[in-house]
Amino acid sequence: MKNEPIDKLPKTSALTIKRLKSLNIFTFWDLLNYFPNRFENYSLISKIGSLQEGELVTVKGQIVDSKNVFTRRGLKIQKVVLADGTGKIEVTWFNQPFLIQIFKKGSFAAISGEVKKFLKTYTLEPRGYEILPSINAPCLHTARLVPIYSEKKNISSRVLRDKIAYVLDNLKKDPNKIDEFLPQEIITYNQLISENEAYFNIHFPDNVDLAEKSEKRLSFDEFFVIQLSARFVRAEWEKEKVQNKFNEDKKQLLEKFIVNLPFHLTNAQIKATNEILKDLTNNHPMNRFLQGEVGSGKTVVAAIAAYFAYLNGFQTIVMAPTEILATQHYQTITKLFKKYPLKVGIQTGSKKISKKKNELIEHDIIIGTHAIYNQSISFKNVGLVVIDEQHRFGVVQRARLKKKGINPHLLTMTATPIPRTVTLTLYGELDLSVIDEMPVGRIPIKTYLVQKNKRESAYEWIKKEIKKEGIQVFIICPLIEESKVETMKSIKAAKHEFEFLKNNVFQDFKLGLLHGKLKTQEKDLVMKDFKDRKYDILVATSVVEVGIDIPNANIIVIEASERYGMSQLHQLRGRVGRGSKQSYCLIFSESESIDTQKKLKFFTENNDGMKLAEYDLKLRGPGQIFGTRQHGFSNLKIASFHDYNLIKQVKSAINYFMNKYELDKFEDLKKRVNEYQVQLISRD
Ligand code: ADP
Ligand code: MG
Repeated sequence: MKNEPIDKLPKTSALTIKRLKSLNIFTFWDLLNYFPNRFENYSLISKIGSLQEGELVTVKGQIVDSKNVFTRRGLKIQKVVLADGTGKIEVTWFNQPFLIQIFKKGSFAAISGEVKKFLKTYTLEPRGYEILPSINAPCLHTARLVPIYSEKKNISSRVLRDKIAYVLDNLKKDPNKIDEFLPQEIITYNQLISENEAYFNIHFPDNVDLAEKSEKRLSFDEFFVIQLSARFVRAEWEKEKVQNKFNEDKKQLLEKFIVNLPFHLTNAQIKATNEILKDLTNNHPMNRFLQGEVGSGKTVVAAIAAYFAYLNGFQTIVMAPTEILATQHYQTITKLFKKYPLKVGIQTGSKKISKKKNELIEHDIIIGTHAIYNQSISFKNVGLVVIDEQHRFGVVQRARLKKKGINPHLLTMTATPIPRTVTLTLYGELDLSVIDEMPVGRIPIKTYLVQKNKRESAYEWIKKEIKKEGIQVFIICPLIEESKVETMKSIKAAKHEFEFLKNNVFQDFKLGLLHGKLKTQEKDLVMKDFKDRKYDILVATSVVEVGIDIPNANIIVIEASERYGMSQLHQLRGRVGRGSKQSYCLIFSESESIDTQKKLKFFTENNDGMKLAEYDLKLRGPGQIFGTRQHGFSNLKIASFHDYNLIKQVKSAINYFMNKYELDKFEDLKKRVNEYQVQLISRD
């Protein structure tokens, strides 16, 4: 049953099927594994006669009236009246005339929403509704904890709920239902609910407790598979051999390069460099994770490694997630090697060193986006691959390279501060180097939490700074929905904010707009224009790339800052403070809650990314089912990398498992581990 293709879903349009497939949902099982981001709590059911203003409730009753009303301005309003024996209540929708077909007089319905009082009459501001076959029929979209899914590819939560409920309903009739894939001992010891219960209750829990237990079970599963997979990748890796070892003696030639750099390396950079160089002289390939805050100088370290490869007669490939970042690396690296005979080239969608098919690329360092592998170009002799901000990419890219007969050393870099213990378990296949020290002479960014009544003066101050100092400004628009993915709503809000600022606040300045729906080339152009100072202010959603280097941008304004985790705020802040002048970060917040103010205050007082990541950790932990999951960098489906306790718990479970069992005897687990690897590969 669970392996049925989604084409078998009844009453489902071809378009919906197509959209589901574009979300990588192909089977009923995939559908069940599309977990909600959060729940709306509509479980308070109230009689119409006893409604209280401000309550979020569900009312159930019979439709006694339903009609379209046209306003003078041409708006279509749907007025529906629901009665339940204790009273009647009017519910109003805007511009959804089809609802009148749905709410037929006499039918039973449940409507969830917020109770409003207007003069002496109560109304309901609707959030969810459904027609019921009978007044006591079970509800899906109302009268319960209602799951809210990520609404990508135009699939609504409502549609997902319907489809998932259908699958779960049918599964109930299936004796095999959902099998356990872990040994019972581990399930019992870790106090996990069964796989069956978890899948039912992650979508339609009867209460918060069950929702949390399901989240824990499924997060445990996810961590288990990831950590186990990491162990196997590591074991496999250790068996690998490189074709040609790097020659230890060539290290001496590196000294000259390092001494001639325009700055002294920090101690942390030296340590990381040494760890990398040591790996490179091994006869099995390096697989190292280089972690360091934005601006800590990872690129130079990578450049030293690339130079070492060059001295040994090998090419280096440097891969960045976007064209902008690739271009930036290209510029930095070209500059570093200006006085050296290395040939540095760039290969992206728009800038190519080779347009010819099957041409052998002879450059010593080739910088590009990951599209570099999808092309039919060949490399001469790749010895090192550097991957920026694509955490698990290494495994995948290596598989591709191996097909081309290359088995290089891998260096993965990230600016995301991930606590060490988390890295060591979640990315257990990688060795870790950390640059935990900033180059001297950096001026720390000054951060201020601007109170509401100071907004005007903040804008005035920004105008003065632009005029006086010729600096540039980022304005980060609010995330509208509590989700890390940028939704249409956020984009609309950004456009709106852009127009507003342009016409009402910064009339005398040049403003640019950047958001995720722009095409890559458009985005690149906007960023390039900003870099070339064609704009004074860049209004952007939070998509502005991590690691982007605009030394002249000295001020960043972050709206609705309470919606971000500390780490995310810190990453946003890191987009300024790269030049020689004092930089500023102004954060705004609509929330006056004491906790929020405390959190934001902590942010203004701390510049250390790791400290902030740990603060996030403390704030979160388990029981965050109603919170925002920030999958973000880790590509986790349900687990949170902030859930440090669970990560540790899984780690000991894995140790136990490895000591006692053999993976080969656990078909389902093995399948999951394999699927996870495949999924990593297909993800890009
Ligand atoms: P990251 O990639 O870690 O964000 P970069 O490698 O881009 O950082 O370095 C940021 C800037 O700092 C670059 O302009 C680089 O030349 C400079 N830089 C790197 N290391 C040092 C150092 N030890 N002292 C001074 N400046 C440095
Ligand atoms: Mg960088």
